[in-house]
Amino acid sequence: MNGLDGKTAVVTGAGSGIGRASAQRFAEEGANIVVADIVEETGHETVDLIEAAGGDAVFVDLDVSDTASVERMVDVAVDTYGGLDIAHNNAGILTGFSDVTDIEESDWDQLLDVNLKGVWACMKAELPIMEEQGSGVIVNTASESALAGMGGLSSYSASKHGVVGLTKSVALEYATRGIRINAIAPGPTKTNIQANTAGGDTDPRSLPFDTSAMTDVPMDRIADPEEMAGVVAFLCSSDASYITGHTIPVDGGQAAD
Ligand code: NAD
Repeated sequence: MNGLDGKTAVVTGAGSGIGRASAQRFAEEGANIVVADIVEETGHETVDLIEAAGGDAVFVDLDVSDTASVERMVDVAVDTYGGLDIAHNNAGILTGFSDVTDIEESDWDQLLDVNLKGVWACMKAELPIMEEQGSGVIVNTASESALAGMGGLSSYSASKHGVVGLTKSVALEYATRGIRINAIAPGPTKTNIQANTAGGDTDPRSLPFDTSAMTDVPMDRIADPEEMAGVVAFLCSSDASYITGHTIPVDGGQAAD
């Protein structure tokens, strides 16, 4: 892996799951990390984990659906580390399964505000800094639900299809400006999103395969968050210097089925 040493990375939703794993992986690769999350306690835990492993990280309280909050996150990166090289726009929510006619307007708005508007707000705040530097890399977290319809998850699937369209379009806008923008489409991964779907206080790491509604996985297992983080780190490295505008399925073969 090449190219993360001494870089500055922001990770949204870094207090848990895929975001925590990518923040830790970026730090292992030598980057300084802005750990951003709406939950302060878990965000600080991620900072502690990174520092205990010898890395450098700072926490910022963030609500991705609030543009002022997103701008503060970028200001913290610039003020603390002097720039912004990498962004993993990853924060997302899943509000449960229901037919489209049973979705409350407030639930629709909340989910789209976090999952889609949040990614737009992050890129809007991050790109001017990267453009000024003449370089930068962004990875947005989509989902397998962005690549196919998902009955019972229409608002989530619509939001993640939106993330893919946004990623492609903005990648084209910035293709000649030194900035690459890609997305990952995770399959079912052992995080709180899956644990909450399973109900109760399930530890995500101990999730059995069949708790997920999305278990049609050729590899017949749920992913560990670190398997997402490895692909995110690759996309942010100079090894991926000719990849932009793509959504990479990290899904145990689901998209091939
Ligand atoms: P997770 O619940 O463990 O992590 C999500 C993090 O986002 C949490 O720390 C949460 O506090 C934070 N967050 C929620 N709303 C926020 C907001 N408004 N502002 C800032 N932070 C906020 O779940 P995860 O699985 O790690 O989710 C990460 C991303 O991966 C999400 O975009 C999710 O849709 C996507 N994803 C997950 C799976 C899966 O199976 N786990 C599959 C496909 C896609």
